[in-house]
Amino acid sequence: MPKKQKRDFNFDTLCVHAGHDVLETNTITPPIYQTVAYPFESADYAAKLFRYEIEGFMYGRMDNPTNKMFEDRLAAVELTEKALATSSGMSAIFIACLQLMKKAEGFVTSSKIYGGSNKLFTETFPKMGFDPIFVSDPSDINCWSEAITEKTKFLYVESPSNPNLFVADIPALAKLAHENNLPLLVDNTVASPALQQPVEFGADIIIHSATKYLSGNSSCISGVIAGPADYIDEIREKEYRNIGPSISPFNSWLLLLGMETLSLRMKKHSENALAFAEFLEDHSKVEAVHYPGLKSHPQHELAKKQLSGFSSLLSFVTKGELEDAKNVIDSFDLIIHTGHLGTTKTLATHPAFTTHQQLTQEERLALGIPDTMIRMSIGLEDIDDLIEDVDHALSKIK
Ligand code: PLP
Repeated sequence: MPKKQKRDFNFDTLCVHAGHDVLETNTITPPIYQTVAYPFESADYAAKLFRYEIEGFMYGRMDNPTNKMFEDRLAAVELTEKALATSSGMSAIFIACLQLMKKAEGFVTSSKIYGGSNKLFTETFPKMGFDPIFVSDPSDINCWSEAITEKTKFLYVESPSNPNLFVADIPALAKLAHENNLPLLVDNTVASPALQQPVEFGADIIIHSATKYLSGNSSCISGVIAGPADYIDEIREKEYRNIGPSISPFNSWLLLLGMETLSLRMKKHSENALAFAEFLEDHSKVEAVHYPGLKSHPQHELAKKQLSGFSSLLSFVTKGELEDAKNVIDSFDLIIHTGHLGTTKTLATHPAFTTHQQLTQEERLALGIPDTMIRMSIGLEDIDDLIEDVDHALSKIK
């Protein structure tokens, strides 16, 4: 980072520069430190390092200079003191939560979350003696309040949520959390820091599947946790070190490059997705469209307060039966059918058969995911080509 302190710069500048001192590395592009270990300059230095009394690099499972550049950049744009990069979004969620609980303790979570997070909370955590409580109507703050017990260690929310685009009232949840001396964790994957900085609304800990918009072009599985220095340091010293979900320096390098174009991409993603959603809303073969940028979205007013753009994720429900939705998916020429989101290319997923197939149909319906729902991640292509492709695919419905 050149001369000025990083906090003096604005968001777009931080995305390009934070974490990388070009003069120190003598490179314009961040270097990849493809190494496992670092020489200790003396026995005293090593002893202090291993007692965490000084800053420095210990061993590749715990730290790496390229990873640190990405972590510092992410912390700067999420307005947190520190960040910790992980091997995937799921490992970020896992250790972020694990650090806050002991056996027989629990947390309160929105039920409108990514299917993988749901499975982590309902399958894996109970095996470890953790007790998550799901709020079935996360838009009702009283439901959250009633779910909190003396065992609750944090509140967890995903906003906007994947795939049903629920938008949480982050300031209200932060207030409730703090009244109960609890931290609020926000999965900010779908918005990215370019559209929403949850810390500004009172959130304490931010999690990302960096696999998505931070990387930007589907080049690496990765995750990151951002939060207060003591919390991040403690995870690095314990859960991260003990379990080993470290990120490769090459993936951090891809993320550093990806973040340089984050703002530009998020603007274009949001513009294209809004135009796509408006087109679908008027389409005779479409039952419903869920996109926080539409006036018809139940939390549109809230979304406008919290988000500076509405991102690329939307979902729509086709008319007809399961077979009709399958026909639509199979009839796309340009749009790619896959289980992913947040990349330059436009993608479509059928949640009932892919991301949420681990849940029963009843569970899916309770989460607002009917069998005819198609989730879209709108990319950076020409919007006219995308609209032509979806219109053609929808014409297959009788
Ligand atoms: N959080 C959200 C909102 C997601 O959509 C996903 C994956 O799709 C994850 C977390 C998990 O991320 P990863 O696939 O990088 O482990």
